[in-house]
Amino acid sequence: MKSLTLSSPLDMHLHLRAGSLCETASAVAGTQFAGAVVMPNLVPAIETLPAMDAYAQKITAAAGTAFRPLMTLFLNTQSASDIEEAKANPHFFAMKLYPAGVTTNSENGISNFDAIVPALEAMQALDVPLLIHGESNGFVLEREAEFLPVYRQLAKAFPRLKIVMEHISDARTLALLDEFENLYATVTLHHLLFTLDDLAGGKLNPHLFCKPIVKLPRDREAIRAAVFGGNAKIMFGSDSAPHPRSNKESAAALGGCFTGPVLLPALADLFDRHGALDKLQAFVSDNARRIYHLDVPQKNLTLVNEPSDVPAAFDLPSGEQVIPLFAGTRLPWRIV
Ligand SMILES: [Zn+2]
Repeated sequence: MKSLTLSSPLDMHLHLRAGSLCETASAVAGTQFAGAVVMPNLVPAIETLPAMDAYAQKITAAAGTAFRPLMTLFLNTQSASDIEEAKANPHFFAMKLYPAGVTTNSENGISNFDAIVPALEAMQALDVPLLIHGESNGFVLEREAEFLPVYRQLAKAFPRLKIVMEHISDARTLALLDEFENLYATVTLHHLLFTLDDLAGGKLNPHLFCKPIVKLPRDREAIRAAVFGGNAKIMFGSDSAPHPRSNKESAAALGGCFTGPVLLPALADLFDRHGALDKLQAFVSDNARRIYHLDVPQKNLTLVNEPSDVPAAFDLPSGEQVIPLFAGTRLPWRIV
C-alpha cells in the first residue's frame, strides 16, 4: 500500500464564503490544511482591516487554531498608507485584484488600473503580493488570453512586486511564467482534472461550472506538464467555492466548484496516476513557503492508497445543502 505524508499543506486560493457556508467550508479546510489564502469577495467585499479581522476570527472559530487563514483585501481605493497599515496586521497576507465584473461578487472590481498605482507602489515597497483574478467575464475561451498584456504591463512596471496569476487554466498564460521573474501562478485541482467536455460535452454539469471555465485538452496538458514537472513558480490554490445546491442546480447556475472536501485525496490520486507523487509536497506547500517566506503551523497529513467515500452532500447549519466534487463516489486515496 502506497502512503504519503505531507508537511503543512497549504491552499493558496480558497473561498470560505459567509454565513453557514463559511462554517462548513472552514471546518473542511481545517481538516486538511495548515493554512489557506482566503478570498475577499463577500457581499460587501472585505476591503477594511476591521472587516478582515472579524472574518479571520469567524474562520478560526470553525477551522481551529491549527489552521492559519492568510487574509486578503479586495483591492479598490486603498491608499499607500492603507497598505502600510494592512502590512502590520498579523492576519493580512495580500491584496486581491478583481478586474470589474469577472466573478462572483466582483461587480465592484477595478476597471481603471491607473487608480491603483499608489497602492501597487506601496505593495512593491513593502513586499505585499498582488493576486490577480485574470479573466474577464464571459464564456469565450479567448478571454483569459486578453489578460496577457495586463500581466506583462504590471510585471514590467513593478519588477519587484510579486504578481500571482490566480488559477491559471490557459497554456498561453502559463508561458508567461518563464518571461517574467516576478510572475507566479496558482493552479486548481479541477483545471488539472477536467476539460470543457466534462462540463458540457454531454449533459451540462453545473457543479463543474467555474470561472475561469475549464478549457481545452491542450490547455490541461500544458498545465499538467508544468505541475507534474515540478515548476517551482506554481502553487496549489484550489479555488474551492461552494454555493448552496439551489444556486448551482438552477437555470441561472452560479460559478464555483466545491472541491474542498476531496482536495488532498484527489490530488494524491492524480499525482500518483501521473507518476508525480514526489512533486506533490512542493506543489501543495514548499513552493508557497519559499516564494512568500511563509511561517505556517506545522501539520502533517498522511494519505494512503485505500478507498474513501465522498458524501453525496454536506448539510449546512442553515438547512440547505452543498454538493462536493465527486459527490457520492469512491476515491482511491484517503486521509489517515
Ligand atoms: Zn477564486
